Amino acid sequence: MAGLLSISEPNADSTTDLLNQPDPHTAAHTYSRDDIAQLFDLPLMDLLLKAQTIHREHFVANEIQISTLLSIKTGNCPEDCGYCSQSGHHRDTTKLQAEKRIEVDKVIAAAKRAKATGSSRFCMGAAWKHPSAKDMPYVVELIKEVKALGLETCMTLGMLDTNQATQLADAGLDYYNHNLDTSRSYYEQVVSTRSYDERLDTIENVRNSGINVCSGNIVGMGESRDDRIDWVHELLKMPKAPESIPVNLLVPIKGTPIGDKVLAEGQLSVLEWIRTIAVARICCPTSYVRLSAGRESLSDSEQALAFMAGANSFFYGDKLLTTGNASQSGDDRLMRELGLTKQFAAPRAPKVLPVMDAMSGHQSQVVLAD
Ligand code: SF4
Repeated sequence: MAGLLSISEPNADSTTDLLNQPDPHTAAHTYSRDDIAQLFDLPLMDLLLKAQTIHREHFVANEIQISTLLSIKTGNCPEDCGYCSQSGHHRDTTKLQAEKRIEVDKVIAAAKRAKATGSSRFCMGAAWKHPSAKDMPYVVELIKEVKALGLETCMTLGMLDTNQATQLADAGLDYYNHNLDTSRSYYEQVVSTRSYDERLDTIENVRNSGINVCSGNIVGMGESRDDRIDWVHELLKMPKAPESIPVNLLVPIKGTPIGDKVLAEGQLSVLEWIRTIAVARICCPTSYVRLSAGRESLSDSEQALAFMAGANSFFYGDKLLTTGNASQSGDDRLMRELGLTKQFAAPRAPKVLPVMDAMSGHQSQVVLAD
């Protein structure tokens, strides 16, 4: 493709142009598909420098937002996502034991533990095609109870119609996760039980309800770099980029179609995942870019590169729904070594009470402590 940079054929002029490209947040500019492709092709150090520079223009340097994820209903999902152990379509080969919905008090106990260990957001995931009418009061209660603890709330429950999105917004849900997973053209290799447009419809319903959008991908499912470019381009085609963008590195699970294929054919280079993080950071400068699945298998140095690439969010806890995660003590040690600090949830606005002096009639305000 004309004008592309490659690592083997560096083009100093074009590299400089791209490094100096205006920040899309401060200039009327967005990245075209060709721009995104050129970012992917930058020499890695140039790409990391640009990503970290843009990151520091929009976020506090060295600060990481931490979420905890809990599966509130595990397994036997009617969807057939080819990477997922929770799909009922793969249960004979993954042998994953399905579980019923977790009781509200157990979810709240887990949320309290998450808060005590430094998470600012509590994410709840259910293996549903979409929540049923009888599930809605349950999820609404969870949102209200978890928010009452002073945590941000996030849910991933499958597809939502406009009415369901409004109900969740009215309950106070802060974020809704619905990943695009990959490009439109590779999507049919990943899922057959729902379409790319249905995914986009749910994201639009969430956006229109006022809930923040969390939508990411899974890198390393056998897709090409063109698919990763197309995925970033999809984010930029949305009226507003997602506030939260998880960039997962596939954890290949034995017994799933994609997991078995990747285990047989070999995994994608971690550096390509890091490039994807950096390009997402550059193209969506005000979004939180989250390290999600796949961190468990990474070295400290690889994770440090991912933070350098502009990732500023990750999940705490030994488990992500059904796959393993880096240990919390390991995360704390790594954060200390890298000099990273935890971002806590935004403080609630102080309660201000108008008061009037009974003698003088003078009016003033007092700020109440929590
Ligand atoms: S990724 Fe989600 S929707 Fe797909 S099978 Fe797994 S639980 Fe179901």
